[in-house]
Amino acid sequence: MKPTSVTVDRDIQTLSLEWDDGHHSVWPLDGLRRACPCAGCMGGHANMGALPDPELFRQPPRQRWDSVEVSAVGSYGIRIRWDDGHEAGIFTWKRLRATCPCAECTA
Ligand SMILES: [Zn+2]
Ligand SMILES: [Zn+2]
Repeated sequence: MKPTSVTVDRDIQTLSLEWDDGHHSVWPLDGLRRACPCAGCMGGHANMGALPDPELFRQPPRQRWDSVEVSAVGSYGIRIRWDDGHEAGIFTWKRLRATCPCAECTA
């Protein structure tokens, strides 16, 4: 499963992915920042397999992320550089798909 497009919209503060099966996922940037999958944010390497609480993507954002930069990591995911300089988290396609916050995926 791979996206055919990755779009960051800083105006409306979302990251959206179009998947090759036609599915569409949209995450609020602040939720993704709080769901950063790096060892530091996850509380250690042992916890890195855990998926984030879907509530993170439903809560109102605490702040805006206006300088977010997304770069490809191989062919398996993206790295996000946040306004606070943090960029340790690699969001794999597999993980992003597993955390799609849409009604269908969270039903
Ligand atoms: Zn992190
Ligand atoms: Zn979905």
